[in-house]
Amino acid sequence: MRLAVFDDYRVGVVQGEDIRDITAIVPAEFESWPAQRVNWLIRNWPRVSGRLADLAEFPVVPASSVVLRAANPAPPQLFAIPANYHAHIGEIGSRAITKRGRTARENGFFLKAAGSVSGAGEPVPLPAGSSRRFDHECELGVIIGSHGRNVPRERAVEHVFGYACLIDLTMRIEPGEFEEERSLRKSFRGFTPLGPHLVTADEVGDLTVLSSRLSVNGEQRQGAALKDMIVDVAEAIELISSVVDLQPGDVIASGTPKGVGPVVPGDEVTIEIDTIGAMSLTVIEAAPAPRPF
Ligand code: MN
Repeated sequence: MRLAVFDDYRVGVVQGEDIRDITAIVPAEFESWPAQRVNWLIRNWPRVSGRLADLAEFPVVPASSVVLRAANPAPPQLFAIPANYHAHIGEIGSRAITKRGRTARENGFFLKAAGSVSGAGEPVPLPAGSSRRFDHECELGVIIGSHGRNVPRERAVEHVFGYACLIDLTMRIEPGEFEEERSLRKSFRGFTPLGPHLVTADEVGDLTVLSSRLSVNGEQRQGAALKDMIVDVAEAIELISSVVDLQPGDVIASGTPKGVGPVVPGDEVTIEIDTIGAMSLTVIEAAPAPRPF
């Protein structure tokens, strides 16, 4: 099943060119906290998914008429895996934070602000007037389905709800000049596009046969087989849940392959992962902030 979050955080099921608006199955109390609807839906999925057996009962909205929001607009936690493809390690030279030769297996994970997520219908805003370098990273987003603590990798798949394309936008360090914390540099609003839809794990099937790609203005910059991840999704869940509890709705950015490169306002960035989908986003300049970057 392909779930869509759209407009004022309504939730729907994608059927070809249509979306079936299933917001009514989420308790009305969430009218006042609509960004949390997906977390409620994931948490209660085993109990409520049966009500979606006959989608004809739900109102139809043309997909072309909605603004797609993040596949989960309010993940409780947003984890990210660094240095997870051998060919990417070292390619950004002195701007790299990860020590030479070390991989996600030694480095573990870092955090992005959950508020950095955005959807396929939203632009990517770069800080106003900045001369810094902002890079795209093409990643698989993993959305957690159930609470997990000390989950061995053999049981990790039970905790995956679904997947989405994820772009991990990054403001690079300039050694000796600008060296902000990684969590700040990756947490600007709109720096984690997640979409276009939330595709349930049963619909995606075997990840190891899928490939991802990212292009800028139609020119391919990144392309990789998901099977080439050093720490795969199961090991990432084992790793994270050995440190802290995973919660329904949490998102894991699973790391970028080689080919990261800069984007500037006016660019169009397109990410695609087989079976999961594709989305194109326009890079813009954000409104000026009191603290420039
Ligand atoms: Mn990344």
